[in-house]
Amino acid sequence: MLRVTGAERFLIDPETERDGELFVVDGLVAEGAPDDAEVLDASGCVVTPGLVNAHHHLLQTAFRTLPGTRGVAMRDWLPTMAAAYAAAGVDAELAGIAASVGVAEALLSGVTTVADHHLTWPPGADSVAIAHATADAARALGGRLVFVRGSARDDPQEAAASAEAIVQSFTADVPGGLSPDGMLQLAVGPAGVHSDSRETFELLGEVAARHGLRRRTQANEQVDVEIAREKYGRRPIELLDEWGWLAPDVTLAHLCAVTTDEIARLAEAAVTATHAPGCDLPMGWGIAPVAALRDAGIAVGLGTSGGGSNDAGHLLADARLALQVAPLVGRPLAAREVLGMATEGSALGLGRSELGHLRPGGAGDLCVWDVSGAADAGVADPVAGLLWANPGRRPKHVVVAGRVVVRDYELVSADERELVGALRRRVGR
Ligand SMILES: [Zn+2]
Repeated sequence: MLRVTGAERFLIDPETERDGELFVVDGLVAEGAPDDAEVLDASGCVVTPGLVNAHHHLLQTAFRTLPGTRGVAMRDWLPTMAAAYAAAGVDAELAGIAASVGVAEALLSGVTTVADHHLTWPPGADSVAIAHATADAARALGGRLVFVRGSARDDPQEAAASAEAIVQSFTADVPGGLSPDGMLQLAVGPAGVHSDSRETFELLGEVAARHGLRRRTQANEQVDVEIAREKYGRRPIELLDEWGWLAPDVTLAHLCAVTTDEIARLAEAAVTATHAPGCDLPMGWGIAPVAALRDAGIAVGLGTSGGGSNDAGHLLADARLALQVAPLVGRPLAAREVLGMATEGSALGLGRSELGHLRPGGAGDLCVWDVSGAADAGVADPVAGLLWANPGRRPKHVVVAGRVVVRDYELVSADERELVGALRRRVGR
């Protein structure tokens, strides 16, 4: 039980703000709390819902700023990353270590839920062990994880068998793809039509249908559009439609080069979207027309994508970038719109209506941002200031399901330096 007091402002959701106190009981936002509830002092701070990173590749946390991976076409980037994975040897140990560091970085920057689109499954690797190592890492730190059994040129039958085995291995804990405590969710998702065949989309779709899992893929980055044209003479959205992947349970990440007609088609199919400007902009892979997507009624979330293209899992920094770039691709976005994308927008794409807001009954996931320092002085609107002012800010405290997981800028249940040391020993960086 938690009683958060003294905040300058509570941002309940993008439309609702108030002052006073906020209570979390049994992991959920409540109208009140018993007198013996733990008190979390938020004086001089703004409290927001925990951020939801709707698109990450946690493994890439071990592969940042590698030579030959910055600002290059995806055709050149993919083999360079593949060579680095092969050199390091991707197994459950590395997946677990990378996930520990990635989830630690997430929590320390205010991200309480991470969707990990895991795409690297070397032949012979124990995929069930990789999934469990990733899930264990997130659970140990107190972060929520959505583990997506991805595929990138995997054999379709093997990918589907592995996805099925992963689901079966968690079945006791994760009925219907979601653990009862909401800490672990399972999903499936090919990397995109540029890498995976119709068979992979269909077979992973069958696993999803059997177990009630969400589906995710990536669409309409530069290389995706090019390869769809070369291989099929078609656009990625047309292929996804034909392959049964334009549906309300599907989230499409990136969506850079989409036409007005395609946006209408996506809206009609009720798919959700994930904007990932921190990956697409620096790499030159395109910019999603976010305002047009939103104005068409599509729920848009925010994701960082992985360390191989972004180098940071700091979602608030990418929210700021989304704000800054929006006027170049449509209309300016308001800070509250983008905060809404980074919270409730992402949560909707995960099918998680309890996440991303602080309305009563919602998940008790929140961030306490100190706005009393010099970088926030003179700010007229402290909520807008979360994005516009103080780039790279980190939350002072972070709460997940009512548990304090970051206190005074430090992880509560792990030593950050030990996690980093384990990664350094494993990959030499
Ligand atoms: Zn991505």
